[in-house]
Amino acid sequence: MRSEVILFSYTKNLERVCAAAMRSCYSPHSSFQLFENKEGKVLPDEKPFDDERVSNLIKKAFELGHHDVLEHGELTFDIRNVSRALTHQLVRHRLASFSQQSQRYVKITRSFGYIKPPSFKEHKVKMKFKGIDLELSFEDVIEFCKLAEEAFLNLGIKAEDTRYLRPNAATTNITTTMNPRQLLHVYSLRCAPDAQWEIRDLAWAMFSCSKLIAPTLFNTIPIVNIHKEVKERNELLNQIIAEIKPNFKKIGEGEIMEIPLDRLALEHEVKAYVVKL
Ligand SMILES: Cc1cc2nc3c(=O)[nH]c(=O)nc-3n(C[C@H](O)[C@H](O)[C@H](O)COP(=O)(O)OP(=O)(O)OC[C@H]3O[C@@H](n4cnc5c(N)ncnc54)[C@H](O)[C@@H]3O)c2cc1C
Repeated sequence: MRSEVILFSYTKNLERVCAAAMRSCYSPHSSFQLFENKEGKVLPDEKPFDDERVSNLIKKAFELGHHDVLEHGELTFDIRNVSRALTHQLVRHRLASFSQQSQRYVKITRSFGYIKPPSFKEHKVKMKFKGIDLELSFEDVIEFCKLAEEAFLNLGIKAEDTRYLRPNAATTNITTTMNPRQLLHVYSLRCAPDAQWEIRDLAWAMFSCSKLIAPTLFNTIPIVNIHKEVKERNELLNQIIAEIKPNFKKIGEGEIMEIPLDRLALEHEVKAYVVKL
């Protein structure tokens, strides 16, 4: 099953807000005065707060380790069709907010989707079960779980209990909101080669969405200096974002743009979208 991530809500002028907060620490002027000084007309004693200055101030914040300025904003992602195995890992990030589809109230016992790890390929296992010789694929085991869940549900057992038969592969939807500082922390852990492949793919998809709306904040992550493959993939993603950015600027408010991720060669299919605000 194909997973999807949609960045559908985020702080408007995110980088400008963070940069104004940064500059306000070293200026007699307040953050909003600086924020408004785009053309340099509001504060004659200050340089214009143009895009270049915003970008330089954010780079300076990273250099100085002045990381609180990266907390002045939020990004909200709709994450669809990911496994329970993935969400169990994602919700370990305690500084993020989450809302996840309920297995008690959403009646999808027979119809739940699932993520099949690529390593299963077309393998089948032979086993003896209650005296019967079986040869089962990954899909067969999932189908058996579905049948069992439905059968017990039909027996009158509550959905909140029959869901115990649902495997970790079963898909779910989850919404998460994080500030840029926390997102960079999550990307550092989950884009790394030792992260589990499904959450790693998702992290790269979320990272790509973040880059489109805030390219300086999300230009890089500390682990690019540790892993060559992360550095190369990050550079490739920066190229992809630079290619699609002109079109993103042109589309209207409320329109959605897909970020093509095929060149990243992820382990499984994940689609990434950003809503223009
Ligand atoms: C490759 C990999 C393998 C993993 N394997 C396992 C495993 O086998 N078993 C397992 O249980 N977990 C495992 N985890 C999960 C991991 O231990 C963390 O729970 C998860 O990555 C959340 O990260 P975090 O704690 O840094 O940050 P978050 O919860 O995202 O918090 C961000 C930062 O805030 C600070 N912070 C948050 N809460 C506190 C606090 N209470 N006290 C002090 N500082 C705080 C820390 O600096 C923290 O880094 C694994 C994670 C990865 C990436």
